[in-house]
Parts: sequence; C-alpha cells; structure tokens
Amino acid sequence: MNHSVTAKIMKISKLLTEWYKKNARDLPWRHTQDPYLIWISEIILQQTQVKQGAGYYNRFIQKYPDVMALANASEKDVLMVWQGLGYYSRARNLLAAAKQIVTDFQGKLPCSWHELKKLKGIGDYTAGAIASIAFREPVVAIDGNVSRVISRLYGFEVPIDSKEGVKLIRDQTLKILDKDDPGTFNQALMELGALCCKPANPSCADCPLNAFCSALSKQKVHKIPVKTNRNLIRTRWFNYFIIKCNGYVFIEQRKKRDIWNSLFQFPLVETEGNLPRELVLEELSNQVNVFPEDSKVTSVSEPIQHKLTHQSIIARFFELELPENNLGWPEEWIKIPGEQLNHYPFPVLIKNYLHKTLIF
Ligand code: SF4
Repeated sequence: MNHSVTAKIMKISKLLTEWYKKNARDLPWRHTQDPYLIWISEIILQQTQVKQGAGYYNRFIQKYPDVMALANASEKDVLMVWQGLGYYSRARNLLAAAKQIVTDFQGKLPCSWHELKKLKGIGDYTAGAIASIAFREPVVAIDGNVSRVISRLYGFEVPIDSKEGVKLIRDQTLKILDKDDPGTFNQALMELGALCCKPANPSCADCPLNAFCSALSKQKVHKIPVKTNRNLIRTRWFNYFIIKCNGYVFIEQRKKRDIWNSLFQFPLVETEGNLPRELVLEELSNQVNVFPEDSKVTSVSEPIQHKLTHQSIIARFFELELPENNLGWPEEWIKIPGEQLNHYPFPVLIKNYLHKTLIF
C-alpha cells in the first residue's frame, strides 16, 4: 500500500473513532468486555431495534447472568423471556450454544473468531463482534449498517447481498480496520450506519467521513447500496381454533421447520386463501379428525394481519365450545386450564389477540 493510501486510511479511522467517542449512544452492553454479555446483546440486536432490544437484554441477563445459568435453563423458559422478540431460532440457538460452551469449552466462550464460529447460531458477524470487542482480535464485524456505510464510502455499486458484494465489502473493511482497537472501530462503523448514514436521508453534512465519501461526491447516496430484488413477501392464511372445554383449552407446540418453531399456539389450520368458515371447519375435521359443528362456533374474528420480514400472516381466530364427551382429540394437542395460558410462550400475534379479547 502506498503512503497516501495508508495516510487516508489512518485519517478515516481516526475521524471515525473520534466521532464515535463523542456520539455513541449509552447502551447497557457498551459498559462491558464480558464476552457472554456481548454475545447476548449481539444476538438480541439482530433484527431488533436498539430501543426494544435494551429491555429484553436487561431481562435476559438478569435471569441468565452467565453461561452456566443459561445452559441449565429449559427451552420453554428461555422462549418465555424471548416472547415478542421474534426470530425464535435465535433463542433456541443461544441455549444450544450455551450447552456447547459448557461441554466443549469448559464453560467459557472461546476467544477467537474461528472457535466462536463453531457455536450454534454464531455466524461471521457475531463472531467478529465478540472477538473484536471482548478479545481485541483484529477481525471485522459486518452487519447491514456497516455494509451500507462501506458501499457508500467507496461507491460500490455491486449488490451488497450478492456473493461478490459481500466479499468486496469484507475485503475493504478489513483494509481500513484499526488493528490496534478493532472493537471500537467496528462499533463506530455500526453506530455511524445507525445514526448518520441511515438508509433514507443520511445526515451527510454531519458525517465525519463526508470528505472521503465517493457516493456523496458522485451524488449517488440515494442509489447506493444496491440490492438484488429477492425479497418477495409470501402471504399465508392462518386459522386458529380456540377450543374451550369446561374451562380448559387446547394448545399445541409448533414443531416444523417454519416460523415460530417451538412456540405454542392454538390448533391451527393453514389454508390457501380466505376460505368461508364452513370450509375452514371442514379442513379442521380433515386434518385432525375432530368434528366441531358450526353451531358450536361462538365467534370468528376479523382477519388480523401480522407482518414479518418475508411473510405476511393473515390470521382468524375461531372460538368454539366442545362438550366434554365430544372427542378423541389429536395427541399433539395439550389440554390446559384457560388461566394457565400465560405460562406458555406464544407468538406475539396470539398474545396480542388474547390480550385484546381477554377471553380467559
Ligand atoms: S457522507 Fe453520507 S453517504 Fe457518505 S458515509 Fe457519510 S453519511 Fe454515508
């Protein structure tokens, strides 16, 4: 690398870290070097806003203050703490990785990027964040914020979600990484993306790197980053059955590789569209061999839309009463007293419905 390139990199790094020291938000996980706490915060913050994540982080570490406490927890309890955050595979992976740390790493998080990647649910980004912040390993941590900053700063017009784009951004970030303080550097880049180099209307006038920014000088800030157009939203129709029976109600656990895996729900029939109630009841009979008469349905909710990143769920809730002697219910259904519903982790869609209707 020639002298002027090295000087420019040093200047970028210096401006960035100075800006970070003045502007960084005061967040609970920024007061620690403990790799366990950094790990938990990084996992919670994936796909979650900082404001919402902070409350979950505090509750999570209060309940599970170290690896051992987490490794000894039950999946149901961990999911209860996670309830409402979404992307529940993160919680299941945290638990699995905690057990791995106890069995394979003597209860301590491994201290290198390479070893961290062996843990369930830890990918390139999370390993980079933990290794650089807790262990000062000179590795990068590239999340969506960093990708946006780097692609604008260097004017990359290759899609950032393509293989080529991912490599380009990784290589470039590594070139400018402050090897003496990689943790601060990585956090500064993320924070710049979150506070200044936002997806829409970035605050370029206040950006410490504006003198070096290629997208700004070429007036391409709103065109970069480029993304491939792969994110099609899938619409799904969920019909939930709140089947009451003498103060009891039936629930089941989601077991398939699908959204909300391991969470609980009311018996569900998924249909191809918005079917009339008779056909939905018929589907219930076909799928689970339970024969509720239409006359026993006491209410059907309006369709409720629930948006996820890649899916739009349209749900209806059918409430019905069944006499004690009616069935023969499927063995995967669990019969519980209605007042115990709040002992089980449900998707937010169901939780909100219960909260709104106060049916138990
Ligand atoms: S000048 Fe604007 S576009 Fe460039 S890095 Fe800064 S905030 Fe992002």
